[in-house]
This record gives sequence, structure tokens and C-alpha cells, in this order.
Amino acid sequence: MTEEQTAEGKKGSILVVGGGISGLTATLEAAEMGYEAFLVEQNPYLGGRVAQLRYYFPKLCPPTCGLEINFKRIKDNPRVSFYTMAEVENISGGPGNYDVTVKLNPRYVNEKCTCCGECEKACNAEVPNEFNFEMDSTKGAYLPHEMAFPMRYVISPKIIGTDDAKRCVEACKYDAIDLDMQPQTVNLKVGAVIWATGWKPYDASKIDNLGFEYSNVITNMMMERLAAPNGPTDGKVVRPSDNQEISSIAFVQCAGSRDENHLPYCSYICCMASLKQATYVRELYPEAKIYIFYIDVRAPGQRYEKFYRKIKEDENIFLIKGKVAEVTEDPSSRNITVVAENAVTGEKVQETVDMAVLATGMVPSAAGNKLPGGVKFDPDGFVVTDLAEGGMFATGVAAKPLDVTSSNQHATGMALKAIQTLVSR
Ligand SMILES: Cc1cc2nc3c(=O)[nH]c(=O)nc-3n(C[C@H](O)[C@H](O)[C@H](O)COP(=O)(O)OP(=O)(O)OC[C@H]3O[C@@H](n4cnc5c(N)ncnc54)[C@H](O)[C@@H]3O)c2cc1C
Ligand code: SF4
Ligand code: SF4
Repeated sequence: MTEEQTAEGKKGSILVVGGGISGLTATLEAAEMGYEAFLVEQNPYLGGRVAQLRYYFPKLCPPTCGLEINFKRIKDNPRVSFYTMAEVENISGGPGNYDVTVKLNPRYVNEKCTCCGECEKACNAEVPNEFNFEMDSTKGAYLPHEMAFPMRYVISPKIIGTDDAKRCVEACKYDAIDLDMQPQTVNLKVGAVIWATGWKPYDASKIDNLGFEYSNVITNMMMERLAAPNGPTDGKVVRPSDNQEISSIAFVQCAGSRDENHLPYCSYICCMASLKQATYVRELYPEAKIYIFYIDVRAPGQRYEKFYRKIKEDENIFLIKGKVAEVTEDPSSRNITVVAENAVTGEKVQETVDMAVLATGMVPSAAGNKLPGGVKFDPDGFVVTDLAEGGMFATGVAAKPLDVTSSNQHATGMALKAIQTLVSR
């Protein structure tokens, strides 16, 4: 590619739906090749699920480092247009020539916002904090999280029409709050569409034997937020029932996964996620006993295998091969007992611990929410790419369970497929 071609840009544009790590990668790869890219994200911020993680396995670095580099590349690239709080309403046409309608939901805060936080102080109403899986609340005027991109406040629709909303307007010295903001429509013409709509955690309340109704049983994604310094406990892993420090913890693998009654497939990452979370506990509690109940430990590839072997060296981490049959609570101590059959010895084993973490799997976000444009799904709700037809491509966890590295590789490949649609016409 010559300098001249890069400056002029290439003919054709690509729509990417979903601004997680896969969507960011696909957008940037296409734009940096000279194509116009539109990124549509339903949240008020980009970054997707990885923005909620404490650390990445296996390097144990904070995801914000990688995200910030991507956000800088987006800011620096004039070929990228991104929309947050946005959803694709309609897609018509075919490969090389799609008409897309995007709905932009009101944020009630415009680009003049300096993030001074005065509206938050003025607002009395609290709303559940979705970023922290509702383990705490935020004010009705809030920044989704401290590293949010774009760095701009949001007014919750729940306080529109209340005195709190008026107080926010009065508190804002920058004329950044507009309570009359209405949904808007943007029409785009693109040659290819990449679906990067990612995943949501499996709903643990659907699993009736693993005790999610007890306060001291949480999911793996809740654990990510508990361990995060910007989480509901400022990074302290404590018992939700009484905020006490812990001396023991159990991880229940395949919680609702590889189970015909729930998710029939393996989510690929939750063994590694629990091994990683064992390091969160160890960092805070050098003496804590950590029990990991598993069916198989899936740590694919040399780097993950090495990580697994290192974890096994810790003499207070006990890996127990056995499917958990039952999780109960002692109502007075609120301690949790995990019962399983040891698959090696055949014996019934049980451990009583301060808290337990259910390693729930990833459900494709698009499952059950029909996407426009005649998108095809497999029986589990993952988006299927029809390469023979072309034009529309699925990537990241929208397509199959993947870790971040594989999501990046997959998204790069799908950006190339989208470009091929443009150049072949
Ligand atoms: C407990 C746990 C810990 C993990 N830890 C690690 C780790 O340490 N290392 C690692 O490599 N992997 C880890 N993973 C896996 C990692 O989270 C995924 O690989 C990654 O999130 C995949 O990114 P994605 O962009 O495909 O999906 P997502 O992160 O889900 O992003 C999808 C984006 O699309 C948006 N979206 C969805 N639907 C729409 C729509 N209709 N319109 C517009 N936007 C939409 C969403 O809001 C979201 O922003 C972990 C997973 C779990 C469960
Ligand atoms: S909306 Fe106004 S008051 Fe609120 S953070 Fe932004 S600039 Fe400050
Ligand atoms: S990655 Fe591990 S915990 Fe997750 S479904 Fe597969 S085997 Fe079970």
C-alpha cells in the first residue's frame, strides 16, 4: 500500500456491530488498511467484557493497557466513526451494498462534558451498577467506569422527569446536560457487516443445585469485579454476606456448562479464568485454602499449560476432579458446603468454605435477540458465517467461545474477509 493510497482511503465501508475486543480489532484492522469503518456499540462505552476483568490470563496484566492502545488508534484514525448507546435496527441489500439504519439512544450528556462530577454530587437517586453486576449502585448521573471511553457521563433514563435530573442540569457549569435529547437515526451505506456482539454470562439462577441464591456464592464475572480496584469492594475479595476476609474458597467448574439442561458446550475460558482467580485470592490471602472442583481442566496450548502447572505448585490450592452435585449454606455462619463425587477415588467429598465461585460459561449475546439482516445462528445461538454468500461475518465470542488472543486473531481474519467483499465488487 503506498502513502498516497493510505491518505485517500480505499473504496467501500464496513459496519462492525459490537465494540468489545473483537469489534475494536476488526474496526481498526479494516480502517488501518484504508477502509472506512463504522463501529456500533450498545453500551455507553467501548471495550466490552474485558473492561470488567481484573487481569488477563496468562500474563496477569490489566486489560486497560491493551484497551487504551486501541482507543488511541481509534481516536487517531479519521476513517473510524463510532457510535455508543447505539443499535442496528435494520439492514437491507446484499454483499457489497447494504443499507443500514442505526438508532442512537439518548445519553442526555453531550460532548461538552468535562467529567467534573458535579452532576453526580447533586443527584440523590441511586441506580443499580450494571458494570459491577449490581453488587453496588451508582448515582443516577454516572461515569460507567473510571477508564471509560468515551470519557463522558451518562444520565440514567430512570431519573428523567425527576427533581434529581433538574438538580443535575443546575449543577453542570458546562451546559453538557440536555434532558430533551431524543433517540436519533443514522443511515449508513456499507459493503460488508461484521457481527462482534460477544457474550453475556450464563444466568446462574437457572442452575438449581449450585446455591446461587446464597449471598456467599457468586459467579466468576462477579469475582472479576470484586478483585478489581475500581470494583464494589475496591479490590478486596471479601464475603458478600458480611464483608469479612476469607480463609477458604471453592471454585465450581462447568457451572451450567457441558450440561444438556443448560449450555451443552464448553466455554473454553472458564478453567483458565478460575486458575487466574486463584491468583487473585493468593495475592490477598497468602494462607487461604483454595479448592477447585473440576470435570476436566482445559488449559489449551503451551502458555496456558505452563500457567496451570505453576498454579499446581501451590500446596494450598487443591484441584479435585469431581462434578459438584450440591452446594448448601449453613444459615447461622453463612458458610458454604460444596459436595462432589471424587472422580478418581469414587468417594463423596465435601468442603466447607467461606465463599464459592461458580465458573459460569459464556452465552452469545445475540442468542434469543434476533439480529437484523437475516443473520444465521447455530442451535446454541452463535452467529454463523456463510462464506459462500459472503457480505456478513461473525467474529469473537459472537461466533464461538474464545479467549482474547484468539478473538483478536479471529477478528483480524474476518476484517480481511470483509475487505475481500469490497474489493471483489
Ligand atoms: C470470568 C471470565 C474471565 C475471563 N478472563 C479472561 C482472561 O483473563 N483472558 C482472556 O484471554 N479471556 C478471558 N475471558 C474471555 C474474554 O472475556 C472474551 O474472550 C472476550 O470478552 C471476547 O471479546 P468479544 O469482543 O468477542 O465479546 P465482548 O467482550 O462480549 O464484546 C461484545 C460487545 O458487543 C456489544 N454488543 C452486544 N450486542 C450488541 C448489539 N446488538 N448491538 C451493539 N452492540 C452489541 C456488547 O455490549 C459488548 O461491548 C474471560 C471470560 C470470563 C467469563
Ligand atoms: S455532565 Fe456536566 S456536571 Fe456532569 S460531569 Fe459532565 S460536565 Fe460535569
Ligand atoms: S472451560 Fe473448563 S469450566 Fe469452562 S466449560 Fe470448559 S471444562 Fe468446564
